[in-house]
Amino acid sequence: MAEIERESMEYDVVIVGAGPAGLSAAIRLKQLDPDLGVVVLEKGSEVGAHILSGAVLDPCGLNALIPDWKEKGAPLNTPVTEDNFYLLGEGGHMRIPNWPMPPLMNNHGNYIVSMGNVCRWMAEQAEGLGVEIFPGMACSELVYGENGEVKGVVAGEFGKNPDGTPGPAYEPGMELHGKYVLLGEGVRGSLSKEVMAKYELSRGHCPQKFGLGMKEIWEIDPEKHREGTVTHTMGWPLGSNAGGGSFIYHLENNQVYVGFVVHLNYENPYLFPYMEFQRFKHHPMVAELLKGGKRVAYGARAISEGGWQSIPKVTFPGGALLGCSAGLVNVPRIKGNHNAMLSGKAAAEAAHAAIQAGRSGDELTTYEDDLRSGPVAKDLKRVRNVKPLWSKLGMAASLALGGFDMWVANLTGWNPLGTLRHGKSDAAATGEASKFQPIDYPKPDGKLSFDRLTNVSFSMTNHEESQPCHLQLRDPSIPVKVNLPKYAEPAQRYCPAGVYEVVEEEGKEPRFVINFQNCVHCKTCDIKDPSQNINWVTPQGGDGPNYPNM
Ligand SMILES: Cc1cc2nc3c(=O)[nH]c(=O)nc-3n(C[C@H](O)[C@H](O)[C@H](O)COP(=O)(O)OP(=O)(O)OC[C@H]3O[C@@H](n4cnc5c(N)ncnc54)[C@H](O)[C@@H]3O)c2cc1C
Repeated sequence: MAEIERESMEYDVVIVGAGPAGLSAAIRLKQLDPDLGVVVLEKGSEVGAHILSGAVLDPCGLNALIPDWKEKGAPLNTPVTEDNFYLLGEGGHMRIPNWPMPPLMNNHGNYIVSMGNVCRWMAEQAEGLGVEIFPGMACSELVYGENGEVKGVVAGEFGKNPDGTPGPAYEPGMELHGKYVLLGEGVRGSLSKEVMAKYELSRGHCPQKFGLGMKEIWEIDPEKHREGTVTHTMGWPLGSNAGGGSFIYHLENNQVYVGFVVHLNYENPYLFPYMEFQRFKHHPMVAELLKGGKRVAYGARAISEGGWQSIPKVTFPGGALLGCSAGLVNVPRIKGNHNAMLSGKAAAEAAHAAIQAGRSGDELTTYEDDLRSGPVAKDLKRVRNVKPLWSKLGMAASLALGGFDMWVANLTGWNPLGTLRHGKSDAAATGEASKFQPIDYPKPDGKLSFDRLTNVSFSMTNHEESQPCHLQLRDPSIPVKVNLPKYAEPAQRYCPAGVYEVVEEEGKEPRFVINFQNCVHCKTCDIKDPSQNINWVTPQGGDGPNYPNM
C-alpha cells in the first residue's frame, strides 16, 4: 500500500483512553494550566461504552483529584453498608467473619458505582475545563519522532477492506502529536504492549499476571435487594482447578452486579471460565438471590493481577503508561480504579512541570518516582505477596499466609515474607491436554445461566463486518497444527464471547474460525493463547461493546 498521507494536529498532551486513568490525567492537566491543549481519544462509541469494572470504588483517587465531587454531582450514590465474605462448597457456604481481615480489605467508606457512569461524569468535568474528548476514535498506531521518542498517535482510520487495503469510503484518520503521549488504554493495551516491547519496559520486573472478569447486571426481586451490600466468595465451583472468586454488589434500583473472576494462570486447557461463571449462579445461595430476577447486561474484561512486582518501568521517551496499562490493581481488594485515578493525576503533574520547563519528548521521571513511592506504592506494596502465594500454594494457604503478611504490613509497613516473585506468564502456565480430562459443564437453563452468544447480545456488541479482523494470527497454521493437538485449542473456551471456533467436518481438515464481530475487547486471547500467536489490535473506532451502566 502506498504511503498514507494524514493531516496532523498539535497538542501539548495526547491521552489515549477515556477510562478513569486517562480522564484523571486530562482533568489534572487543565486544573494546573487551563491554557494547555489536551485531547483524549476513546475507541468506544461514547465515553463509558467500553468500561467494565465491579465496581466498588475507593474514593481516595477522586478525593485527591476533585475534592468537591459530591457538590459537583458525581454518581457515587450507594455507600457500602455491609461487607460479607463466604467460602463456598458445592451445596453450602461458610461465612468468614470480618474481624480477621486486614483493615485494608474493609469496604466501609467505599461506594458501589457504575464506573461507566463515573467516567461519563468525569468526561463532563474534563470538557468543562476545556479538554477535547473524541469518542469513536481508536488509536491504531504510534507515531515516532526523529530520536525514537513517541510523538503522537494515529486515530480515526476507517473503511479498510477485509484485506487491509483502502475501501471505497476509506478515511486515513489523523496524526495527533503531543509534547507527551499518555497511554491509559487499560489492561493489555495494544499500544502499551508496543512501547513495552520497544523500550523493554518490563526488563527486571516479574511478568504481568491476569484474571478474566465476567459480569452481569441483574434486576432482582425488591424483597431480596439490600442496597449497599457487598459480597465476595471463593471456592466452588473452581476448587483446585483455578484461582478466582465472585463478587455480588447491590447497587441502586433493585440492581445487582454479579461477577466472576478466573485467574488466567490455570493449567487445565479444558477449563471453561465462562461456564464456571454460569455454574456459579446455580449455587443455592446465589440462585436464591437471583431467582425471579432478570439479567439485563453482560460483559467481560481482563484484570491485571501481578501487582507491585509486575509494574513495568512506566515512562518512555515522550510518554508514560497510566492505570491498568501499567497494571495497578490491588488484587485482594479487587480494586484498581482509585490507583488509575492517582496515576493519571501524578502523570499529569509530571507532564505539566516538564512543559513548564520547556521540555518535550523526554521521560517523565518524576511520575515514575511518584508511582514507586507515593500512595499507589503504599496501596500495592502491602498486598504484594497474596497473588504469588495463591499461585504457588493455593487458596487456603494464601488466605492464611497472605492474611498474616498483609496484617503485619498494615501495622508496620513491613512485609515479613519480603517480596515473592511471580512464576511464568499465564500463557506459559497452560498445560498439555493429554494430562487432563475434559470437564463436563451443565447446560445453561436459560433462567439463571445462559449460553455465550445469548449473553453477548446483552453486551450490545457490534463490529462493522467489512473491515480487517482485529484478532491477528502471527501464524495462521498454529491453531490447528499446534494448539489443537497439544492444548485442545483452548481459545474455544477461554474467550467469554465465543469468538473462536474449531469447525470439524467429516473428511475435511479442521478449520479455525474467528468471529471477530462478537469480540467484547476483554483481551484474554492476547494474554492466554499458549503459543502467543494472537495479537489484539484495535478495530475501527466506535466498534465493540456498548455497555449501559457497567
Ligand atoms: C471484572 C472486573 C471487576 C473489577 N472490579 C473493580 C472494583 O470493584 N473496583 C475497582 O476499583 N476496580 C475494579 N476493577 C479494576 C478496574 O476496572 C481497573 O483498575 C480500571 O478500569 C483501570 O482503569 P484504566 O483507566 O486504566 O483502564 P480502563 O478502565 O480499562 O479504560 C481504558 C479506556 O481506554 C480505551 N482504549 C483502550 N485502548 C484504546 C486505543 N488504542 N484507542 C482508543 N481508546 C482505547 C478503552 O476503550 C477504555 O475506555 C475490576 C476489573 C474487572 C475486569
